[in-house]
Amino acid sequence: MTARSEYHHLYNLSAWRRRLRPEHLAREPLCRACLRRGIVNDGTLTASGTRQQNPKRCRLVVDHVIPHRGDQALFLDPGNLQTLCPDDHDQNKQRLEARGYSQERGADGWPVDPQHPANR
Ligand SMILES: [Zn+2]
Repeated sequence: MTARSEYHHLYNLSAWRRRLRPEHLAREPLCRACLRRGIVNDGTLTASGTRQQNPKRCRLVVDHVIPHRGDQALFLDPGNLQTLCPDDHDQNKQRLEARGYSQERGADGWPVDPQHPANR
């Protein structure tokens, strides 16, 4: 069972589908990881900045910075969202699964994920 289907009930919440997700995409309509590399990706490009050839990957993903692990409060926290292209989302997820925590840092430079070794 994938994490996505395990937490399917959360992604079906109208608070997520009708409010949080569209409002986040309106605020942040570009892949955050691409932007850090100087690529302006509105979902039509790959993570390396070339045109996305796969129509199924021509989209943006609203990702949780700190993995919610089924925690509804963390899932619905607008401050815990980031926009990623499918390429960066896949890479992020693989790194997360390998390590078990996010390396995302807050404005203060400190890791945001409570599972990060610096926070344990
Ligand atoms: Zn990207």
